[in-house]
Amino acid sequence: MFKGIGFLMRYTWKFEKRYIIYQILLQILTALVPLSDIIIPKYIIDELTGARRIDVLLGWAGLLLAINLLGNWLISFFSGNSFVLQGKVFTKFQTMMADQLSRSDFARLEDPKFLDTKAKAEKFLYANGQGFGAVMTSAFNIFGKLFTFIGIVAVISTLNIWVVLGFVALVLLNAFYESKVRKQATVWDLEKAPIERKTSYYIDLVENFAFGKEIRIYGIKDWIVAKVHEHLQESDRFYARQTRLMNKARYLSVFTNFVLKGITYGYLIFSVIKDFIGIGDFTMYMSALMNFSDAMRSLMESLLNIRQFGGYYNALKDYMDVPQRMYEGKRLAAPAGPYELRFEDVSFRYPGQENDVLKHISITLHSGEKLSVVGENGAGKTTFVKLLCRLYDPTEGRITLNGVDIREIDYDRYMTLIGSVFQDYKLLAFTVKENVSFQHSDEEDDGRIHDILVHSGLARRLETLPHDIHSHIYRTFAEDGFEPSGGEGQKIALARAVYKNAPIMILDEPTAALDPRAEYEIYQNFSELTEGKTTVFISHRMSSSKFCDHIALFKNGEIAEYGTHDELMAQGGDYKELFDMQAQFYL
Ligand code: ADP
Repeated sequence: MFKGIGFLMRYTWKFEKRYIIYQILLQILTALVPLSDIIIPKYIIDELTGARRIDVLLGWAGLLLAINLLGNWLISFFSGNSFVLQGKVFTKFQTMMADQLSRSDFARLEDPKFLDTKAKAEKFLYANGQGFGAVMTSAFNIFGKLFTFIGIVAVISTLNIWVVLGFVALVLLNAFYESKVRKQATVWDLEKAPIERKTSYYIDLVENFAFGKEIRIYGIKDWIVAKVHEHLQESDRFYARQTRLMNKARYLSVFTNFVLKGITYGYLIFSVIKDFIGIGDFTMYMSALMNFSDAMRSLMESLLNIRQFGGYYNALKDYMDVPQRMYEGKRLAAPAGPYELRFEDVSFRYPGQENDVLKHISITLHSGEKLSVVGENGAGKTTFVKLLCRLYDPTEGRITLNGVDIREIDYDRYMTLIGSVFQDYKLLAFTVKENVSFQHSDEEDDGRIHDILVHSGLARRLETLPHDIHSHIYRTFAEDGFEPSGGEGQKIALARAVYKNAPIMILDEPTAALDPRAEYEIYQNFSELTEGKTTVFISHRMSSSKFCDHIALFKNGEIAEYGTHDELMAQGGDYKELFDMQAQFYL
């Protein structure tokens, strides 16, 4: 039950010690001020109904006011500052979650089970919509309320211990029932997480500009809105069920409260009439008993909160414990170049799929060699390069870099060796420069980045941009941002790979969106672009294979033909057929 709290406290202490210290002081003060309001009035009333000494009365009243003034001022100070610090802690937790996600294996991002676990983990951190810190606040509350509680019990015990015990029994009964109710509510809530994830996907579909074209042209707005509606209704049914159950616990609490008040008034009035206690005592016990049930209820509430969120904590733990396979292995330093890559009897099957997409691939890429990979759609070409980039690891066999299994090489260091342009490259809503160099450049690099972009065929476009390479891509964050055409986008993606200047280059249809002139220019520069680099080049433009050293023709996940352009043409197989098919349009 307290493991989740332990986790939060450990990290919060690491992130922001002051937050914890302020919270403890805050709790002590919030317990102390009401206690003085319970006890001091008794002495004032006793004095008023007795000797009526002005100095004594002034003394008590002064003390009460001073505690209130100073106490409340400090409470405001600590709670305001705690709020700011809590924001800081929250940011750190969010960063930690983002870091965890970005380090998780690529394959997990398409694994629905992983995504559901993530959604549940977030329920813990955000206290299921109650906001981050609700769990921690509950933990601190326990501490503070315990303090108030002990004070009140001490006061009431001087009256009658049986009254105290009766009160405790009633409140416990209430808490026991509520805890059962909440346990069920948590179970339902976790079941709801996948539904909420689906709903937010659909809402994103409607809101996201990128889907705008399909939604309008195919007239699917109503269809999608209906789906959103359907999922929202499903969540509503969960809420309704939860509320009905919670209400039962609330009704019980209203009833026990009624009994508590009845006993309090009855017993205290009886005691005054019988002269067991005076009017001052009556006031003190009255407010002590009223505060008692409030304090005990809020203590229980906090305990129950923690218990309830403990259920979500397991999901967070599962999420944090998901193995990051890419970061396992021996994490060796990358061997020194030049680089020879070798696939040794590699087979691969996508997670959760039934068939191998690559079957027993064995091929060597010598250092500096350019390999063209061709084949029909679905033959496995992209999967082949994805394995090379370690987006996935082989199901069988191994890939080596200068004889070392790439799984044994430190993942981040291996990544520094690879430059790539994928057909589904992504540009970010940052500046052109940032899209080319990311964080790896400073002002001195501007000239180089500009040259690379010019070289990639963007000279004329750059001239029309408002801030040259500092212009924003997309209008998400800048009004004068620009929307690159498919070809322009691809040129920027290409510039990115050139800028990285990595020894291994992966080009997956890097010219698919380019116009004939731009493509021609890229092909003209191809040898310069890939000079000295071990290169894999996927293209449906068969003529481009001519300037590669070898060609591998993939068919149904296997390498069906392998050789130079001339060898494969002479062989008269699939390669020749595909080549001739495309060539006939140019004759
Ligand atoms: P190519 O690049 O030759 O067109 P791919 O390597 O992209 O072919 O795809 C090979 C096969 O693997 C296809 O049948 C495709 O449906 C399947 N595939 C690709 N990506 C995934 C994935 N993420 N999950 C499951 N199957 C996939």
